[in-house]
Amino acid sequence: MSIGWYGGLVALEFGLAVVTVVALLWIRAPYGRYQRGGWGPTVPGRVGWVVMESPAVLVFVAVFAAGSRCADLVPLVLLALWLCHYVYRAFVYPALMRPGARMPLLVVALAMVFNVLNATVNAWWVADLGGYADGWLTDPRFLAGVVLFFAGLVVHVRSDSTLRRLRGPGETGYRIPYGGAFRWVSSPNYAGEIVQWFGWALATWSPAGLAFAVYTTANLAPRAIDHHAWYRERFPDYPAERRALVPHLL
Ligand code: NDP
Repeated sequence: MSIGWYGGLVALEFGLAVVTVVALLWIRAPYGRYQRGGWGPTVPGRVGWVVMESPAVLVFVAVFAAGSRCADLVPLVLLALWLCHYVYRAFVYPALMRPGARMPLLVVALAMVFNVLNATVNAWWVADLGGYADGWLTDPRFLAGVVLFFAGLVVHVRSDSTLRRLRGPGETGYRIPYGGAFRWVSSPNYAGEIVQWFGWALATWSPAGLAFAVYTTANLAPRAIDHHAWYRERFPDYPAERRALVPHLL
């Protein structure tokens, strides 16, 4: 891939972040609690999650393996970081989710296309363009990025688990989540993921990592704000001090 093409793809990802945030100010992404008619055929939720997220594993590994530095130490450490998140997201999370939910095929298709793009630009940077020397592993940017990445991952996975435990077998309704980072915000699963990808951006010190962190924020912040308003409308006893996404601020 020429550097010109590569730069174009990263710019495209930044552009998609702008399109996404503008679209989500008007439209609630039609899955989960906002699922509604008029968005075409639907597929089982578990299948949808595996299909749309697995390119983030498969394409990343394929592009990584084609990189000129794929056997170097730093790229391999960064590969491990990426897989920590995406093996969970693409395979573990769908296996744990409740059966029966469905999601629009359109949502699956759009997420798949994004994941192919995002995995390509990030893997190509890490295994080829980044040119990391082994000393990068002790650079403060790498170390701070890894701390943020794992702090975000822990909050993210724990919050997913709290939400999952709100329902008994066969239940489909919604309850107020309590505990952990839900003390401060309505969507700590999203907050954790955003922190994670800013950690990745820092640890890779790359335009592709930054594009992904910005895109994740553009995608999840409007949904967190919608979730917060939705909870407050439905639950008169919803904790007043809780914010949508950023403790004490937003
Ligand atoms: P939600 O928080 O909307 O839902 C997560 C799961 O918990 C769903 O199964 C949902 O059920 C259930 N749930 C949520 N709230 C409640 C409640 N109050 N009571 C009972 N059950 C509840 O997350 P998303 O589905 O939007 O996303 C799932 C994960 O994927 C998140 O961790 C998110 O960070 C990640 N993600 C990342 C994106 C990115 O751009 N990087 C994009 C989208 C998601 P139901 O489906 O029935 O509502």
